[in-house]
Amino acid sequence: MEIKNTKSFLEFCKDVGINDVISKKPTYKFKKDAFDNEKDQKNQNRSNLSEKNDICRIELIQNLKTKISNLNTNLRDTSTNLVFSEGNIFSKIMLIGEAPGTEEDRLGIPFLGKSGKLLYQILGYLGLNKKNLYLTNLIFWRPPGNRTPKNEEVEICLPYTFEHIRIINPKFIIFLGGLAAKKILKINENIIKLRGQEKILEFNEKKIPTLTIYHPSFLINNPIEKKQTWLDLTKIHSKLKKFM
Ligand code: URA
Repeated sequence: MEIKNTKSFLEFCKDVGINDVISKKPTYKFKKDAFDNEKDQKNQNRSNLSEKNDICRIELIQNLKTKISNLNTNLRDTSTNLVFSEGNIFSKIMLIGEAPGTEEDRLGIPFLGKSGKLLYQILGYLGLNKKNLYLTNLIFWRPPGNRTPKNEEVEICLPYTFEHIRIINPKFIIFLGGLAAKKILKINENIIKLRGQEKILEFNEKKIPTLTIYHPSFLINNPIEKKQTWLDLTKIHSKLKKFM
């Protein structure tokens, strides 16, 4: 089209709804708006979905806790409180210990006593804390006298621990001590061999990387091994950073 005079061209633009004639570069305003709206809609859908998932996860965790509190086990009778979990249920890093001790039993919160204090101290150096971690135990009640959990006690709790992992959907799991690692990975290796090894948990059609470290109560009695735990954790630090 030949533009005869400026006025008529501007009128033409106005009539057909072209608003960008003064721009040097075409901006495809209408197309872009349509694209932005579509993108906004997708983002809105995504955020609605993630809000729904968040609410759903809170409910699933509450339901799981209720189911566990009704479990038929002698540990319920010999302990004071159910010790379920601590930390951020939306964390991508899950930490699984063995069983609650005296302090944890008294207040119903995991990792409160001496070993919990040491654990948070070690994790703190790596920027890990209750805000970016989710912590639980293989056993949900304190075994009498803080003894090692019996096999039948582990077997009662284990399906619920797998359910716990399914709901939290972690991208990395840290096992504290050999028992949790052996029972969840279904292997029979000694902690001396297991410690520091990265192993994949194949579960729920997912491959979840895991690392086993010494249990903090072992470290209290064997402080020389703290350095080893530090080295084990620093090995995975760059991987964990993505999820913190
Ligand atoms: N040790 C554990 O494994 N879990 C606790 O909660 C406390 C001590």
